[in-house]
Amino acid sequence: MQQTEAGQADPRVVAGFASFSRGAGVLAVAVALLVLAGWAWDLPSARDLMSGGVEMKVNAALGMVLAGAALLCCQSPSRRLRNVSGALSLAILVLGGLTLAQYLCGFDAGLDTLWRDDPGSVAMGRAPGRMSQLSAVAFVLLGGAGIAVCSERAISLAQGLVLGVMAIALYALSAFGYHGLNSDHSADFVPVPLAAAALFLLMALGWLAARPGQGLMRVLAARSFGGTLARRALLPSVLVPTLLSYVAQRLQANGLLSPEATITLLAVASGGMVAWIIWSVSFLLDRVERERRVTSHLQEDANTDPLTQVPNRRAFQATIEGLLRHRREKDAVFSLLMLDLDRFKAFNDTHGHVAGDHALRTVAHLVRSALRPGDLAARYGGEEFAVLLPGLDGPHAVQVAERIRRDLHLNTWQHQPITISIGVAQAQADDDEERLVARADRALYAAKASGRDRVVDESSLRSSATAAAVTTRPDQSSE
Ligand code: GH3
Ligand code: MG
Ligand code: MG
Repeated sequence: MQQTEAGQADPRVVAGFASFSRGAGVLAVAVALLVLAGWAWDLPSARDLMSGGVEMKVNAALGMVLAGAALLCCQSPSRRLRNVSGALSLAILVLGGLTLAQYLCGFDAGLDTLWRDDPGSVAMGRAPGRMSQLSAVAFVLLGGAGIAVCSERAISLAQGLVLGVMAIALYALSAFGYHGLNSDHSADFVPVPLAAAALFLLMALGWLAARPGQGLMRVLAARSFGGTLARRALLPSVLVPTLLSYVAQRLQANGLLSPEATITLLAVASGGMVAWIIWSVSFLLDRVERERRVTSHLQEDANTDPLTQVPNRRAFQATIEGLLRHRREKDAVFSLLMLDLDRFKAFNDTHGHVAGDHALRTVAHLVRSALRPGDLAARYGGEEFAVLLPGLDGPHAVQVAERIRRDLHLNTWQHQPITISIGVAQAQADDDEERLVARADRALYAAKASGRDRVVDESSLRSSATAAAVTTRPDQSSE
C-alpha cells in the first residue's frame, strides 16, 4: 500500500534504498572475488587494488564474499533465504571474533593460512595472512548486525552496530591516506587496505539501506521536511570530511602540503560543511513555508465569498456541521440567524447592480462588526446571509439580531436606506443542518410576511401555533 502522508515512508525512496542495498551486496561479492582471484592466480594488483602494497587477506576477502551474500539474501522475501543470511552473518561474526582472539591471546586458530602463503606480510614482520584488527572488529559488528536484521529484531541496535562499521571504514579510509603512502608500518593498528575500507563503507551503507523506514533509518525514508533534509545532508556530512582528510594526508605524505596547510584546509572544509548543512536547512524551511502559505491561501479562497469577502456557504456548512456535532455530543447551545435584505430587487432595479453590490458589501461589513470573534457570518446566497452564534440560546440570539438590524438603521446609506429581516432559531438536540435552516427560514418568512425590517424568533411561532391549536380545539370539537 502506498503511504503518502507527511512523515510516512516515501515508496520511491524505499525502493531506491532497496536497489542500492542489493547493488552494494553484488559489488562487495564481485570485488572480493576479484581479490580471491588475485590470490589464486598470483596477481598482486588484484590483491591490493591500489592499496600501495597493503593486500586484502584471503580470509578478509572470504568474509566480504559472505557479507555481500548475507546482504543479498537478507533482501529476499523467502524466509529460507533470510535464514541463510543469518547463518552467513554468524560465520562472519565467528571469523572476526576468532581473528580478534588471535590478536589478543596470541594463539593460532588456523584461519590465517587457509589458502595461500603471504610473503608480503612476512616481509613486513606481521602475522602472515591475518587481516587487520580493525577489519576483525568490523566483521564482528557486521555479523551481529546481519543476524539482528534478518531476524527482524532490534533493528535500531543493528543499525547502531552498522554505524560502528561505518566509523571504522571512514577512519581506515582517512588513515590510509597517511599509512598507505608513508609505508609507516610501525602504527598501532595494521592498516586496513583501501579496497577493504571502501567495501566496509559500502556494506555499512548497504545494511542501513536494507531496512528503510525502520529504526534509525525511519527519518531517511520519510516523506517529510526531516526526511528530505536527512537524505540531502547526512551522507555528504559524513563522507566529505573523510574524503578531504584522505586527500590532505596524501598531499602531505607526498610533500605537496605542509602540516599547517593541511590543518587549515580541513578547518576551512569543516566550515564549508556546516555552511552547506545550514543552507540546506534554510532552503527547505523556506520551501515548506512558501508551500504552506500557498496552501492556506487556496484554502481561504475556497471558503471566501469573492464579492463580500465573508465566508461562503461551503464554510458555513463546515462550521454548522461542527456545531451540530457539539450540540449532540456535549449539549453545547448555539443559534442560527437567517438574514434577507428587504426589497432588494427593487433597489437593484432603481440604482443598478453596481450600487446593489456595494450595498451588499456594506451589509456584510455591518453584520460582521456586530458579532463576537467566535461567531460566523456567511453569505448564504444572493442577498441572504447566515449567522452562527455558538453558546447563545434563542433569546440572546434575538438580541444580536436586533443589534444587526439597528446597525443597518444607524448606517448612512449612499442611495437609500436598506433594511433587513431576520429569522432566529436555536439548535435542538435532534436538529440536522437542513432542519435547523428550515426552522430559521420559517421565522424569516414570518418576518417578511408581518411587514419586513424585523426579527422573528422561531420558538415564538411554535408557541403561538400551540396557543392557536389550544384556542381552536373547542371550535374544532364543536364541529
Ligand atoms: P424581499 O423583501 O421579499 O426579500 O424582496 P427582495 O426583492 O429582496 O426579494 P428576493 O430576496 O427574492 O430578491 C433577491 C434579489 O437580490 C434579486 C437580485 O436582484 C438581488 N441579488 C441577489 N444577488 C445579488 C448580487 O450578488 N448583487 C446584486 N446587486 N443583487 C443581487
Ligand atoms: Mg432573498
Ligand atoms: Mg430579499
